[in-house]
Amino acid sequence: MQKEYNRLMKRCITLAKKGYGRVSPNPLVGAVIFDDDYRIISEGYHAKCGQNHAERNAVLNAKEDLKGKSIIVNLEPCSHFGKTPPCADLIIEKGIKRVISGLVDPNPKVSGRGIDKLKNAGIEVIEGILENECRELNKIFIKNQTEKLPYITIKTAVTMDGKIASGCYRSKWITDEASRKEVHKLRNIYDGILTGSSTIIKDNPMLSCRLKGGRNPVRIIADTNLSCPPNSKVFADDGARVIILTGEKVSAKRVKEYPSNIEIIKCPLKEDKLDIKKAVEILYGNGIMSILVEAGARINKSIIEAELADELIEFIAPKILGDKTGINFVEGFNREEISKCNNLKILSTKLIKNDIMVISRFKKFL
Ligand SMILES: [Zn+2]
Repeated sequence: MQKEYNRLMKRCITLAKKGYGRVSPNPLVGAVIFDDDYRIISEGYHAKCGQNHAERNAVLNAKEDLKGKSIIVNLEPCSHFGKTPPCADLIIEKGIKRVISGLVDPNPKVSGRGIDKLKNAGIEVIEGILENECRELNKIFIKNQTEKLPYITIKTAVTMDGKIASGCYRSKWITDEASRKEVHKLRNIYDGILTGSSTIIKDNPMLSCRLKGGRNPVRIIADTNLSCPPNSKVFADDGARVIILTGEKVSAKRVKEYPSNIEIIKCPLKEDKLDIKKAVEILYGNGIMSILVEAGARINKSIIEAELADELIEFIAPKILGDKTGINFVEGFNREEISKCNNLKILSTKLIKNDIMVISRFKKFL
């Protein structure tokens, strides 16, 4: 039975991932309805914020009576009226006899209520199937619900000696094409990409998602003095939001030089630099639930020092650049002893052609 539940929960997770990049600020959810022989009757997933929840789609997709059937879902069914009526009510109404769930809702205000409602209606509830996998799937939602902050991942490409660019800031070709494809997959998942003005000035990137069927993330540029040229490629109006985080003192005249599609948000300063903690809170208030940081050494450092980073994705290329010319992954960052290091936990490693992709989590989120 456990084996069958695990198999069906894996299917829920696969279905849930179809909502990547489109369900924010909602969680990723997949649901499967099955009978006593574990035969799948129907499936559903949450495809887009504002649209039906996974459970409702699974019910709508069913071609037979659901009385006495079971439903498995990676997150506790909701019990409150949001943009759609509660899924717990629908499950009760359809006469489903058993609910198997992966994770209780991390929102402290509703946590456990859906399960209670189902139990009170006489439905058997089995909880905690593949709980860790379900938690990992919805790491962004969990961070949002528990800390009211975006989930932040620093992405970087480094040489084997930890350099992100040569002395003249040429960084474009450290990793090869296959790794860059992985980056486009990430850009399809995160709400926003954050970079600094120096990256825009030196590399003039588009920061778009070139994944087939993908969508462009919100492009966010940290630019204390509004120094990015207004005609930079990143400002092209392709339908995606573009946000510049800038200092409080920039002139209205300078602001007017930028295209009207750009949202220019003024942030408090700390020692003449953007207060990164405040900036991240402002972004969260502007609907940015997850951020992929693709920036230089200074922004990486300020995000880590402010303890805002949740995850680090490093693409390591088998190259050695040396310390005279190379730029470090973080700049102005100094732990005097090994015991004072930031300790990360490696979640996975993957060989991507000739590079290695290492995904690690900062300890505070464990
Ligand atoms: Zn629901």
